Amino acid sequence: MPELPEVTVIANSLNKKIKGLTLESIEYDWPKKFFWNGFSVKDLKGAKVTKVDRRGKVVLIETDKNITILIHLKLTGQLIYQDKKMRIAGGHPLPPLNLPVPNKTTRVTFVFNNGGPTSSVRLRSGLRGTSHLYFNDIRKFGWVRIVESGKLKVESFLEKLGPDALEISFENFSQRLASKGKVRIKKLLMDQTFVAGIGNIYSDEGLWRAKIHPARAVGSLSDSEIKALYKGLQESLKLAIEKGGSSANSFVDSGGEAGLFLTFAKAYHMTGKPCARCGTPIARKKMDGRSAHFCPACQQQFPK
Ligand SMILES: [Zn+2]
Repeated sequence: MPELPEVTVIANSLNKKIKGLTLESIEYDWPKKFFWNGFSVKDLKGAKVTKVDRRGKVVLIETDKNITILIHLKLTGQLIYQDKKMRIAGGHPLPPLNLPVPNKTTRVTFVFNNGGPTSSVRLRSGLRGTSHLYFNDIRKFGWVRIVESGKLKVESFLEKLGPDALEISFENFSQRLASKGKVRIKKLLMDQTFVAGIGNIYSDEGLWRAKIHPARAVGSLSDSEIKALYKGLQESLKLAIEKGGSSANSFVDSGGEAGLFLTFAKAYHMTGKPCARCGTPIARKKMDGRSAHFCPACQQQFPK
């Protein structure tokens, strides 16, 4: 599943590409996962994209009609933007991101008018004057929601998300930890209601940087460890965005290039490789249904 840096990279690339374009139509065969909340295709026709943004792992396409399109890629979603000249693609690597679109995994097609002539016939990729954003999802876990822009907060999904992992202040982070005494720290970091955007990769990376064992109870962390954890998470998230997202599960960024972050990963998927600090082989252990990667020497479960 894409984590915060990967979704940030997709949203940023799309923002450069579709900001200012006008929505011509939306085609979809996915009524079960397409939530209109009382709006219809008609309401979005002619809407100009003002910004593409991200909240947690959700991509937000904001429009000048005060309507926002929310897209969650979940496990197997991909977003592919195609115009006459180029394609930008991000998300799950299957089917390959360079396949012709639309294809049988295409659930939703957003048709944009680039200011050129349009046609009332079914608009195809490459047709003059139009471009397309395809939401493909082989396993159909993702979803699209249409909401009124000002009312994002009452939208039930977003309401459940905790503060954004990149935006949360240190004070807020440590306050929220204070009530979670017995919970294992890695499990808590991956809980989207605690903080939004962190999954298996960046919890491993943040904990390695802070020298904290993933199974430690939150209540056992010292003030200096909490500070180091906050710093470690921020650093690994920012580095990943800078490097174009991770290439875990063969993730590709919206420019179609494999993300480079994992070249810089210190713990995640480094099982058996020497710890960059002390040389001890990185260990992997099942924990709460996920694999935790950590240095058994630097990250002691029962520190003295
Ligand atoms: Zn180590």
